Amino acid sequence: MSEREPFLTVTDLRERTLSAAELVAALPRAELDVASAAEAVRPVVEDVAARGAEAVLDASERFDGVRPEQLRVPAEALEKALAELDPAIRAALEESAARVRAVDTAQVRSEERVEVVPGGTVTQRWVPVRRVGLYVPGGRAVLPSSVVMNVVPAQVAGVEQIVLASPPQKEFGGLPHPTVLAACALLGVTEVIAAGGAQAIALLAHGAEDLGDGTALPGVDLITGPGNVYVAAAKRLVRGKVGIDSEAGPTEIAILADDTADPAFVAADLISQAEHDPLAASVLVTPSPSLVDAVEAELARQVPATLHHERVTEALRGPQSGVVLVADLEQGLAAVNAYGAEHLEIQTADAAAVAARVTDAGAVFVGSYSPVSLGDYAAGSNHVLPTGGTARFSGGLGVQTFLRGIHVVEYDRAALAGAREAATTLAIAEGLPAHGEAIDVRFAG
Ligand code: NAD
Repeated sequence: MSEREPFLTVTDLRERTLSAAELVAALPRAELDVASAAEAVRPVVEDVAARGAEAVLDASERFDGVRPEQLRVPAEALEKALAELDPAIRAALEESAARVRAVDTAQVRSEERVEVVPGGTVTQRWVPVRRVGLYVPGGRAVLPSSVVMNVVPAQVAGVEQIVLASPPQKEFGGLPHPTVLAACALLGVTEVIAAGGAQAIALLAHGAEDLGDGTALPGVDLITGPGNVYVAAAKRLVRGKVGIDSEAGPTEIAILADDTADPAFVAADLISQAEHDPLAASVLVTPSPSLVDAVEAELARQVPATLHHERVTEALRGPQSGVVLVADLEQGLAAVNAYGAEHLEIQTADAAAVAARVTDAGAVFVGSYSPVSLGDYAAGSNHVLPTGGTARFSGGLGVQTFLRGIHVVEYDRAALAGAREAATTLAIAEGLPAHGEAIDVRFAG
């Protein structure tokens, strides 16, 4: 493709009246979806379930080009990475963690006791998941910020056992990237595994009797964290055996913008997410053809100047990216709500009022000075967010992800007597008389 062709393909919805389902079908989408990636990684997940550590090492050799000497990262490697960490990066990680911790701490839910009737209470207790597996990407880019985003909410929730996996890096002798290791040490994570992709997810889910060093890795109860489409697919495959957070796959940005938006900001934000992955989606939704022209001019200026311009170009020109021209902001809101983007920026007049009408998104970034990159690192919000439209039924990572609600029911005799008729009537209506008898027996004689 010539550099002079537009980066973004335009889908013109201005003359069309579409239902939500038709809108979804009309919007840009990736060719490789999680369902097809799941078929590709199923053999890897099954192999790890059957053969454990050896299967992980074989897959690492194949996909990461390195066979780590050991899957479990030694304590000395964690300490060394922290000792050698650039002080500026250390300060930035500490700042990022402090902001995320502030938000998470405020969002811990406390026990709620409801007296339904005198003598009859239902209490909601919040109990942390016991053992969690956190995934931190390390394929094209290495994301120590994802250590912060996974670990801080787990710690605030009170999770007892944290095991973190990140791909082995050939240039670091098969260990995860030193900045990832340093971030783990900084936050006090000691159980770190050098594995990436589907093999890491399968290992966390199934555990291993022997990691190759004589130590066992117990399987986890919940796996969280972002990753590429293969990571998201593997999480879908192990769901049920373990819990997962959301399908936090290849990143997406949708920007709802009008004539008031600064085209340089819009273009920079589309580029910043395209930099993650050739499968990343950058979508501009606007009623303004002149903004589209101005953003294209900015892309032509900014893309060649950015380090990962080839990856960015591939992502922007992919079928998952593009411009959606809408008749007005009303249709724009319908489009972004149907799309359910991982990240949604609102760059319009009266952005807060427009943002208040968003019902489907992983996270919403309001106005010209809340770019997604801020949320990626240092807003205090979490950057592990649902992709592929899964924001329809799941939210981003947070302290709640690591907590389970348990209802504790406590009625005395008088309170049970008050509920007796309703319960026994429903038991009989359902053809389950023993249910009613279990209540009646308490009042016999
Ligand atoms: P990654 O760690 O997610 O993936 C690397 C692994 O992918 C490798 O270890 C390898 O095992 C596996 N892999 C690569 N090609 C494969 C193939 N053909 N078949 C099977 N497995 C294969 O690192 P990455 O690739 O850099 O991706 C990071 C991803 O994380 C990006 O897509 C980024 O957008 C995404 N991300 C998402 C969020 C979110 O919250 N949704 C946040 C941050 C990052």
